Amino acid sequence: MMIIMRASASREEVENVISRIKSLELDAHLSDGAERTVIGVVGDGRPVEVSHFVRLPGVDSVVPISKPYKLASREFYPENSLVPIGEHLVGNGSRVIIGGPCAVENREQILESALAVKDAGAQALRGGAFKPRTSPYSFQGMGEEGLKLLAEARDLTGLPIVTEVTSPELVGLVADYADVLQIGARNMQNYALLKAVGLSKRTVLLKRGMSATINDFLMAAEYILSKGNKNIILCERGIRTFETATRNTTDINAIPVLKILTHLPVILDPSHSTGDWRLVSALARAGIAAGADGLIVEVHPDPVNALSDGAQSLKPKRFTELVKEANAIADVLKSANIPTTPRQ
Ligand code: PEP
Ligand code: MN
Repeated sequence: MMIIMRASASREEVENVISRIKSLELDAHLSDGAERTVIGVVGDGRPVEVSHFVRLPGVDSVVPISKPYKLASREFYPENSLVPIGEHLVGNGSRVIIGGPCAVENREQILESALAVKDAGAQALRGGAFKPRTSPYSFQGMGEEGLKLLAEARDLTGLPIVTEVTSPELVGLVADYADVLQIGARNMQNYALLKAVGLSKRTVLLKRGMSATINDFLMAAEYILSKGNKNIILCERGIRTFETATRNTTDINAIPVLKILTHLPVILDPSHSTGDWRLVSALARAGIAAGADGLIVEVHPDPVNALSDGAQSLKPKRFTELVKEANAIADVLKSANIPTTPRQ
């Protein structure tokens, strides 16, 4: 349930409500909105009596949250969350374009990619150091060596780093180097990993599992939120369908659906959702037009010789065009006053 405090409620009144919640062995999650404070009450599923809270000083109303995900729901936080990627804030009309190779392969490759991504006008650099591959015989990433090269690329360009973390034991190490911890599609329901990044201070880029429903996706975000980390960006990266013409099927629907259901920013990965570099720009434009808060795109200086995902990677020149096109669509939305969250 949500306890909505009066606009005039004092700090003591808020604290008093929180102590009452804790005395009932429930968790309290504070959301300090621009207008008023809302306290989310989360328990283990036992029914909680409204009467515990309605009469407490400073309480305006007590409302149940109907969704199974509480902290991720728009009911709990009606505004759009703003989430940092380095100095840049994502959400509420402020977009991010993240570019870079699927995997860090060597020093020259990542530094060249970083400079190209920066020159193209993107705001962050991606690159996997720990790669969860479908085959155990495929390139598994450079590990910590790759993280060091990413840190060098950040020093060179000033771009914040987005990189994947594949197991709970690695969260501390990856967080020492990265600005954003990516949770890959294959790990979206790795609950131990979700809890571990929930305890981290780093922003989390949570990718949708390839067979996950929107509900599963938001429950995964809830795991992270329930551990205290509010900085989550959701990423639609295509789902498995009966269609075999493309690697995955871009679920464009997911963007406005998520915007209705959650306050968290939503970005699109047009690379994994199509698997084909020729389709990437079209889907990138569609994503922005549908209201995405940004894009994450695979870019490689020499896609033919890439150690992973070369077929879907853009050369720097194409990526530069994509950034221009995405910005042009975003400008149209803005000048025509078209909201990125569906009107309801
Ligand atoms: C990636 O970003 O390179 C990746 C492995 O993505 P996904 O987890 O969406 O497959
Ligand atoms: Mn990839």
